[in-house]
Amino acid sequence: MPFTTPRGTHDILPDEARRWQWLEARFRHACALAGFGEIRTPMFEETDLFARGVGEDTDIVTKQMYSFTSPGNDRLTLRPEGTAGVVRAAIQHSLLTPGNVEKLFYYGPTFRYERPAKGRFRQFAQLGVEVFGAPGPDIDAELLAFASDFLAGIGLCTAVLEINSVGCPECRPLYRDALRNALAGVRGELCPDCDRRYDSNPLRILDCKVERCRELSADVPVILDVLCEPCKTHLAGVEAGLRALGVAFVVNPHIVRGLDYYTRTAFEFIAGNLGAQNTVLAGGRYDGLVAELGGPATPGIGFAAGVERLLLSVGEGAGETERPGVVYLAALDANARDTALVLATTLRRAGVPTALDYLSRSLKAQMRDANRQGAWYVLILGGDEMTRGEAALRDMRGASQSTLALDAVVPYFRDVYAGLSTTVDKE
Ligand code: ATP
Ligand code: MG
Repeated sequence: MPFTTPRGTHDILPDEARRWQWLEARFRHACALAGFGEIRTPMFEETDLFARGVGEDTDIVTKQMYSFTSPGNDRLTLRPEGTAGVVRAAIQHSLLTPGNVEKLFYYGPTFRYERPAKGRFRQFAQLGVEVFGAPGPDIDAELLAFASDFLAGIGLCTAVLEINSVGCPECRPLYRDALRNALAGVRGELCPDCDRRYDSNPLRILDCKVERCRELSADVPVILDVLCEPCKTHLAGVEAGLRALGVAFVVNPHIVRGLDYYTRTAFEFIAGNLGAQNTVLAGGRYDGLVAELGGPATPGIGFAAGVERLLLSVGEGAGETERPGVVYLAALDANARDTALVLATTLRRAGVPTALDYLSRSLKAQMRDANRQGAWYVLILGGDEMTRGEAALRDMRGASQSTLALDAVVPYFRDVYAGLSTTVDKE
C-alpha cells in the first residue's frame, strides 16, 4: 500500500461517520438545553500557552505535544486539549467580566504524541464544556449531572462517577508534604517519572499508571484528611448537590489534577468495558487558571471527553438511527438516463434523497445497487411507460409495484418525505 494513515490516527468512513454525527448531535442538543454556547478556537496555539495552561510538569507538556516552529519562527503546538485555548479566547475577547457567568462548549480534534493502544490515539476528538465565573459548589453538581445525563443519553448509564477534592493553595502544600513523607522510604522504587514528580508535584504520583507506583501509593494519607474548612465545605456542597440531583458517585482520593491552578473538585467517569483506557470523561475546577493565563481572577470548571472512547464504549449498534431510504432512479436506456439525471436534481431540490445509476448498468444490476443503498423506492424510467409519460414505481419495503405519471413524481415524493429528517442532526 503506497500511503496509509500515520500511526495513531484513523480515517472515519461513512458508516462510522454516521455514529460520529449522532454523538455530536446528542452533545449539541444537551448543550443547547443547558445554555452552553459553542466556541471554536484554532487547532494550534502558541506553545507557551499550553506550557502554562496545562503545566510544565505534566506528561502532556513534557512528552506528548506536537510542537513546531513556523516558517515565520513562531513556536506553535497542535492543541493537546481544549481548555487552554478556550481560556485564552475568553480573555482575549473579554468574555470574563465580573458578575457574568459564561458557559461554553467545544468539539474538535486534539493531538497527543502517545503510544497508540485501544482507546488511545495521536489524533482524537474531544468534546468539552467550560463554565466561567461561578464559584460553586452548586454549579459543580449541576455540571456533573449534565455530564451524567449526557452519558446516560448515549447509552452509558453504567459509567461510574468518581469525585475528589484536590484542595486549594491554602491546604494543598500540607498534603504535598504529607505525601512526600509517606513516600520518602520507597522513593527509589518509583518509576523515573514519579521520581521527578516527587520533587515537582507529588500529587501526580497518585495518577501514575505504572503498577508498582500504584501499589506504593495505595496506602498513603488521603487529601480529604487535610483539606481546609472552605474546601471541606465545598466538597460537602458538591456531594449534597449530587444527592439532590440523583447522581450516583463514589469519592476516590486518587483522582487528581496535579497543578496549582486546579482547585477543589476533580472527577472522572469510568466505563466498565474499555480495559486500561477506561476514563471516558474527566474534568475539574480550575479557579486559578484564568489569572495564570493573564486574565481577571475568575473561577472555572469544566470537563472533556474523548469521542473515540465514548463510541467504543457505547458499542456498534448505537447511533444507528432510522434514516429514510433514497428514491433510486433506474434507467433502461440513454434517453431515460437523461430524464433520470434531471429528475434526480429536481427531487433533491424538493428535499427528497435520491440516487441513480452512473454506469449504464443492466436493470438487474441497478436493482442490486438500489438494495445496497437501502432504497425505499425504485422508479424505473424507460420503455413503453416512458413513451406514455409514466414510470413504474416499485415500493421496496412493501414489495408492490404501481405506475406513476412522470409529472406527478416530484409532488408525490415531496409528500412522502415531508417531515422525515434526512440527516441525523435534527433530533
Ligand atoms: P488517560 O486516562 O488516557 O491518560 P488523560 O488523563 O490524559 O487520560 P484528559 O487529559 O483528562 O485525559 O482528557 C480527557 C479525555 O480525553 C479522557 O478522559 C479520554 O476520554 C480522552 N483522551 C485523552 N487522551 C486520549 C488519547 N490519546 N486518545 C483518545 N482519547 C483520549
Ligand atoms: Mg493521558
